[in-house]
Amino acid sequence: MANNSDGTMPCRWKAAGLLRQSLVFAVLATALISSHASLGGEIEEQGVLVLDRVPKPKFRLAGPVGERVKRNVDQWLIQAPKNNPGLLDMFARRDAGGKLDLVPWAGEFVGKYLISGVQAMRFSDDPKLRQTLQNVVDRLVELQAEDGYLGPWPKNERLRGHWDLWGHYHVMLGLMLWHEHTGDEQAIAVARRMADLVCDTCLDTGFRVVDAGSHEMNMSVIHGMARMYRKTGNPRHLRMTREILKDFEKAGDYYCTGLAGKEFFRTPRPRWESLHALEGMVELYRITGDETFRTSFLHHWASMRRFEYRNTGGFSSGERATGNPYKDDAIETCCVVAFEEVMIDALRLTGISTIADDLELTTLNAMLGAQHPSGTWCTYNTPMVGQRIPSHIHIRFQAREDTPHLNCCSVNGPRGYGSISRWGVMRNDNGLALNYFGPMTAEVSLGDGTPVTISQETDYPFDGAIKVKIDVSQPKRFTFGLRIPSWSTKTEVSVSGDAVDDVRPGCYLALARVWKAGDQITLKLDMSVRYESGDLNQFGKVSLYRGPILLARDDRFKTDAELEVDVSRLSEAKVVPLDDQIAEAAGPYKPWLLVDVPAVDGKTLRLIDFANAGATTVEGKPISSYVTWLPAVGIRPPVPVSWQPADRSKVAPGAIRFAWRRPAAEAADRKHTVVIADGPDFENVVLRCGEKTGGWMLVPQEEAKKLNLHTPYHWKVIARNQHGQSESIPPFKQFAVDPTAPALAGNWPCGQRESDQMVTEAPLRGDVKPVYGELLEAKGWKPAPGPDGTANGAIELDGEGSMIKYKLLTFPEEDYTVSIWVSVTKLPSTNYGQVFSAWAGGMDDPLRLVVQGGKLYARIEAGRGYGTEGYPLKTDTWHHVAGVKQGQKLTLYVDGKAHTTANAPETIVSSAADFAIGGNPNYSGPEFLPAKLTDLKFYARALSADEVKRLHRAMPGKR
Ligand SMILES: [Zn+2]
Repeated sequence: MANNSDGTMPCRWKAAGLLRQSLVFAVLATALISSHASLGGEIEEQGVLVLDRVPKPKFRLAGPVGERVKRNVDQWLIQAPKNNPGLLDMFARRDAGGKLDLVPWAGEFVGKYLISGVQAMRFSDDPKLRQTLQNVVDRLVELQAEDGYLGPWPKNERLRGHWDLWGHYHVMLGLMLWHEHTGDEQAIAVARRMADLVCDTCLDTGFRVVDAGSHEMNMSVIHGMARMYRKTGNPRHLRMTREILKDFEKAGDYYCTGLAGKEFFRTPRPRWESLHALEGMVELYRITGDETFRTSFLHHWASMRRFEYRNTGGFSSGERATGNPYKDDAIETCCVVAFEEVMIDALRLTGISTIADDLELTTLNAMLGAQHPSGTWCTYNTPMVGQRIPSHIHIRFQAREDTPHLNCCSVNGPRGYGSISRWGVMRNDNGLALNYFGPMTAEVSLGDGTPVTISQETDYPFDGAIKVKIDVSQPKRFTFGLRIPSWSTKTEVSVSGDAVDDVRPGCYLALARVWKAGDQITLKLDMSVRYESGDLNQFGKVSLYRGPILLARDDRFKTDAELEVDVSRLSEAKVVPLDDQIAEAAGPYKPWLLVDVPAVDGKTLRLIDFANAGATTVEGKPISSYVTWLPAVGIRPPVPVSWQPADRSKVAPGAIRFAWRRPAAEAADRKHTVVIADGPDFENVVLRCGEKTGGWMLVPQEEAKKLNLHTPYHWKVIARNQHGQSESIPPFKQFAVDPTAPALAGNWPCGQRESDQMVTEAPLRGDVKPVYGELLEAKGWKPAPGPDGTANGAIELDGEGSMIKYKLLTFPEEDYTVSIWVSVTKLPSTNYGQVFSAWAGGMDDPLRLVVQGGKLYARIEAGRGYGTEGYPLKTDTWHHVAGVKQGQKLTLYVDGKAHTTANAPETIVSSAADFAIGGNPNYSGPEFLPAKLTDLKFYARALSADEVKRLHRAMPGKR
């Protein structure tokens, strides 16, 4: 979690030269431009990586993390192929005929398995591991079809559907990594033929990657294709990459939305698989040097960091981004792995050390928490509060007779800690950066190939004292960057006995000197227990951390669930030794860390490390639960999340609207201040405006006048209550005042009218123009008599492509109402006829009033479908209809009376940017309704039953 920063950018590797020690000779590290010759890259890279992974590193981890990594090798990687022969047999059976009983993503299993296997080889010399993986690779080589195909689907379907391109992406990546580690030329040749087949199928053939469907999955092959291009320099591979980039516009729109500063959870495809498609933009940046790819990718990383990052370091809410990391919905293992990949890329692009803090937090909590301590299985969901269930039970539907343990998460989970080999030690042309702390030895190399061995003696992450030894065969000058975690407020560092001063948290400490064998750095990190406040669903609660370790209450230790943490006495928290009695209570799997924390009334709360919380599952059944959000008193506000103006956007002169994530309704005492500065370090604050409760404020025109036109400004939000304050986290968003930008009207977030929360009002009296709102498009309509027969009292749609479309700033998230009069002139000949629809994409329609089979329904599509029962309609009969969404209820009113009520999600995040009456605003299929319509009212609030009744009564000539 973020600390409450002092308002400066976390200093980067490049800028980490604030040392005054005599032992420091150089202070600046330059970025590396092209260091991949050793990886066999045949193209010269144009994009700059500030830090990169070390090729072929050899890590030996000890301590508890080392133990877990070893168990993964012994209990999973070496066992899985023999216990799950279908891993490869499913490929052999693909053309045997008959219906294939496979999940659409089955082809990914072997690829994900192989990726985690190669990562494990960087930690282990076990010949059994190597042999097991070699057998898998040999079999893959045998199973490749003549045309290069290497998946489980029959010949006539190859790469054209299912999640087949996604499966190929993972297998290609696994083979590339295997080749890199072992030099196996056969493996890379197989991967190259797979890439060629992707081109043969989807390049200049009339069939595009987007046509394969399952967009966020299949378009992720862009990452594999671009990586392959860096390796092969084959222009077809690059062209394929660029064509998939064009396909983005039809589906996820990742590139454009990133440049427009749109939050990731509001993009058209916010599912987790999209994160691998985003990685394609990093590759494109490396290939071309085009800054826009870097900008777009980093925007999405920052958006997810701000809006989605969980207290466990996890990512995803029910397999997607939602903008709310406090809701206790599923945090899928695959999603966390994908976000780690995004974080690693962001770290490589920026050198911001706090990203490595996040990687550590994610690895030690979310990822090790997803793995059972036995090493035999991992979870599908590792919640903030709840239990751990093995994925082969939780998502058993993915298992088959010959693949009883295989599912998306079981094969993917080990990458979560395997990726320590990619970020634990990194390098650039100036030297090395040490990110991973814990007992270990790492054999790595400098950019010029000089071998360096780094070893650590420590009990970290349970103790803050760390001895780092550096060994080089002969004295060598380079910069050694030491990550100083942002949470370590007081850190002591000495090098070969000399104390280093000015050690700043949230930075790399750049130690530049001639290093010689046996040089030693000692480091003492501040391990005091600290808290982060919750918001929304976790309002009034805190998460506690000791160093990078999230603490959890576990049933096994019988702590009263009602106890409230006394945050004012956190300095009295004590680590408790694991005596026999505690060990017995713990059962077969002991915690690594026990901490007694002061609660109110002088009581004590016993907490353990998150990785082992709830780790008591026996034969697949959890026997204890855990909680990471703990009730507390006297807490400062949570870190606010800046939202709009969108990053790097232009705003019109005049009053400027600033918005942040809406706080919990209970947070009435929380006041917000917007601070605007002319640089990211906030040294020169230009404007400070406050203090405002709620989720947004208007900086008045007189104040906004102090800002110069066309000048980039940074802004942040400070949230304050009587117990303290918190600030939004960097990187801070930018904006510029520009007279060409459209003026902002109305209230946040829908531009709704202040007096009645109206979003769009169109009387439709012989005309389609709204009196409030914005018309986008009107087709196939004419004036018509209204319900009382007066001329021009309504409009009529012909049902043959007719539709009236209005613009939306954003669809309301919780409560809303659409009210309209309708007289259906003919029942639609197609499946659906829409009275009202805001359909924006698959399973994203926050409200539709739809005629189907002669009945009218109110429905919501939000991840899945919700809907009322139908009301039978007669043609040429006027009805007043209203759909009211309030909290978890959706009610259909007809003629002033509630017809039926259905369940609905409490909060809906839609990417709808428009809506239509008489048709579907964005779907290409015909959903037109021949009807007369009048008096459209769309509110960003739930109308009461009485208000709906009054709207019905108000119409002259009503039935
Ligand atoms: Zn999964």
